[in-house]
Amino acid sequence: MTSYIGRFAPTPSGPLHFGSLLAALASYLDAKAVKGKWLLRIEDTDPLREPKGACDSIIRTLEAYGLHWDGEIIKQSQRHRIYQEIINDLLKKQLAYHCDCSRSQLQPFAVYPNTCRNLNNKNPTSSAIRIKTEDKIYSFIDRIQGVFKQNISTDVGDFIIKRKDQYYAYQLAVVVDDGLQGITDVVRGADLLDNTPRQLYLQKILGYTQPNYLHIPLITMPNGQKLSKSYRSEAIDQQRIHLNLLRALKALGQTAPSYLKEATAQELLCFASAHWDAEKIPKTLSIPEAQLT
Ligand code: GLU
Repeated sequence: MTSYIGRFAPTPSGPLHFGSLLAALASYLDAKAVKGKWLLRIEDTDPLREPKGACDSIIRTLEAYGLHWDGEIIKQSQRHRIYQEIINDLLKKQLAYHCDCSRSQLQPFAVYPNTCRNLNNKNPTSSAIRIKTEDKIYSFIDRIQGVFKQNISTDVGDFIIKRKDQYYAYQLAVVVDDGLQGITDVVRGADLLDNTPRQLYLQKILGYTQPNYLHIPLITMPNGQKLSKSYRSEAIDQQRIHLNLLRALKALGQTAPSYLKEATAQELLCFASAHWDAEKIPKTLSIPEAQLT
């Protein structure tokens, strides 16, 4: 039995688009290739960014594409008590603090100047909570991107783990849930690469084991430009599941023999997981814009 536990952790800020299909598919295949578990966690910490029906639409699309998860779906909106207990503990240990800075106060700074670090503010209902960072390089070896290093204290500063509007920050919720769910391998988009050192730091202070990381390159257009916003948010087509799976596999450097042209999504995924080779994922993903829905 393998101990691999992977996950797909979409934020329901819109329907699944081709970029999120790549992350879902790569994390699914990486888990299934070693007969591991693949969990689904909905990162719905921010109701203000959640269009009605987005969560259901993501779940239905994954099902339609044959990407079946193991166990129950976890929703972060139902885990506030867990996050709050961890925050209370961090406050008690003086590893975190209340911050009353306004947006306009912070506007001139690229990195938070640690204004409230030693002020001992106590305004539980209207202040943000920040974690104290340390002046140290955090580094890890990504399976695709190689070594990635960052000094979070000088690059980001003490960062927010609970927002002023009292919603829990992504950095905290993702680390707590990866830790509590025993995630061994995180496969996700490279837009989150520079978030990882903050997550390593939180894992360290919360006593969780560091997972392995694989960040899939972001899609660029053949002319080297980033994908336009409209395409990044365009829902993937439910009518062309087979074609989109083939395109996604191709983008990830995997091949599917021509006899699978008529195969079901399930047969295609079965073949792809048996032949998955993460080392074949190209360093840059360049896809004609016309093929992205
Ligand atoms: N919820 C994040 C997103 O949809 C992904 C989190 C993760 O994979 O760590 O961008």
